[in-house]
Amino acid sequence: MNQYKCDVLVIGGGPAGMMAAGRAAENGAKVILLEKNNRLGVKLLITGKGRCNITNADSNIRNLVEKYGKNGRFLFSALNSFGVDDIIRFFADRGVAIKVERGSRVFPVSDVSMDVLNALIDYLKQGKVKVQTKAEVKEIVAENGNIDKVKLQSGEEIKAGKYIIATGGKSYPATGSTGDGYRWLEKLGHTILKPEPSLVPVVTKENIVRDLEGLSLKKVEISVYQEKKKQDSRFGEAIFTGNGLSGPIILDMSKKIAELLNNGSVKMRIDFKPALTSQNLDKRIQEDFKKYQNKQFKNALDDLLPQKMIPVVIRLSKIDPVKQVNVVTKEERGRIIKLLKEFELEISKTEGFERAIVTAGGVDLKEVEPKTMKSKVIDNLYLAGEILNLDGPTGGYNLQVCWSTGYAAGESAGSVTGG
Ligand SMILES: Cc1cc2nc3c(=O)[nH]c(=O)nc-3n(C[C@H](O)[C@H](O)[C@H](O)COP(=O)(O)OP(=O)(O)OC[C@H]3O[C@@H](n4cnc5c(N)ncnc54)[C@H](O)[C@@H]3O)c2cc1C
Repeated sequence: MNQYKCDVLVIGGGPAGMMAAGRAAENGAKVILLEKNNRLGVKLLITGKGRCNITNADSNIRNLVEKYGKNGRFLFSALNSFGVDDIIRFFADRGVAIKVERGSRVFPVSDVSMDVLNALIDYLKQGKVKVQTKAEVKEIVAENGNIDKVKLQSGEEIKAGKYIIATGGKSYPATGSTGDGYRWLEKLGHTILKPEPSLVPVVTKENIVRDLEGLSLKKVEISVYQEKKKQDSRFGEAIFTGNGLSGPIILDMSKKIAELLNNGSVKMRIDFKPALTSQNLDKRIQEDFKKYQNKQFKNALDDLLPQKMIPVVIRLSKIDPVKQVNVVTKEERGRIIKLLKEFELEISKTEGFERAIVTAGGVDLKEVEPKTMKSKVIDNLYLAGEILNLDGPTGGYNLQVCWSTGYAAGESAGSVTGG
C-alpha cells in the first residue's frame, strides 16, 4: 500500500473512539486505535457508579434531541442512523442483556460496566483493530488543510488516510480526559467553545452539610435563587456530600448554577416535604407531637425525619431539645416548618472539572458535518464524543452521544468512498 500505516487512525479509547474504530473496521478499513492509558475505557468503567447507564430508553428522537438543549438538533441525523434501539441491539447481540430502570435509564442486567467494555473490546477484535495502549499523542501535524501525521510521546509517528479525534472533555482528568484534543483542534483552526464543568456537585458555604453527609433524599424539591428570584427548580433525588450536595437533581441544575455563580451569589432552598403544604405539615407535626406527648422534643421527631436530620433540625430550630413536646409552641412549630419547607443554603462554587460528569462546551458544531462527523476545517479529520459541544442531563444521554457520533464518524471515515 502507500506510506500510510492504516486507513483510519482513532485517537482516544473511550466509548466514542471504540465505537468509531469498530465501525470503521467493520466497513473494511484498516484501523489503529491509540489510547494513552494502559487500558481502554477507564472512564466508561466508572459510569453509572460502575453499572454503566448505557443510554436512555426514550427512543423518540424528538424527545431525545430536546434533552441536549439547543445543540441537540445536530444529533438528528446521527441518532437516525444509530440511535437508542441500535445501541441496545448492539450490546444484546454481544451478550450484554439490558434492563430499563426508573427514568428510562438503560443498564446491563449484570450491573457491571466491565461487561459493556468487554463487548466493545470484542467489537474491536472482530474488526482486527490494532489497539495501542500507553500511546499518548503529543502533536498533530497538518499541511495544507490536511492532517499529515501524528507524533506520539514515545517518538513514534503515524500517518493515516483519515483521523478521528475522540479524546473526550476535561472532566475527571484522572481518567485520561485532560482536554488534549481541544488544544490540537484550536491550533488546527477549529473554534473551541469554552469548556465548562457540567453535571457537577455543588459546594455550600454552610458547614452544617458535613453533619448530613451521606443523607440521601428522595422526592424532595430543590429551587435555586439569585437575588431572591427563582431561577430553576427540580423534584427528585439528591444527596448530601461532605461539603455540599450532589445527586440527579443537583447535577442536572449544575450547569445553570455555574452560569449564575458568574453573576453573583446563588442560594438554594430544599423542600424536604413537597407533597405537604405548610398547613398540612403543621397538622402532621401536631399529630406526631400528640403521639409522643410525654417525650422530650428531641425524642419526638423519629417519624417525621431521617435520623441524620434530627440533631440538625433541633440545632437550627433553636428549640430546647429536652423540652416536653406537648409544650412546643406554635411559633416554634413554625420554625420547624420553615426548616423543612425552605432549608436554605448558599452555594459557593461547583466542584469543577475534578468531579464533573461531563464537559459542556467544546468543538463548535457549526464546524462539523452532522451526518458524517467530518470536520469542515480539516479535510481528513472526523470528531466524535464529548469533545463536541454537546452535553445532556444524567440518564444515559451522554453515552448516547458517544455511540451515535462514534458510529457516524466510523461509518464515514471507514467507508471506501470516504464520506
Ligand atoms: C463518574 C462518571 C460517571 C458517568 N456516568 C455516566 C452514565 O452512567 N451514563 C452516561 O451516559 N454518561 C456517564 N458519564 C459521562 C460519560 O462517561 C462520558 O460522556 C463519556 O465517557 C465520553 O466519552 P468519550 O469517548 O467522548 O471520551 P472519554 O471517555 O473521556 O475517553 C477519551 C479517551 O481519550 C484518551 N486520550 C485523551 N488524550 C489522549 C492523548 N493525547 N493520546 C491518546 N489518548 C488520549 C483518554 O485517556 C480517554 O481514555 C459519566 C462520567 C463520569 C465522570
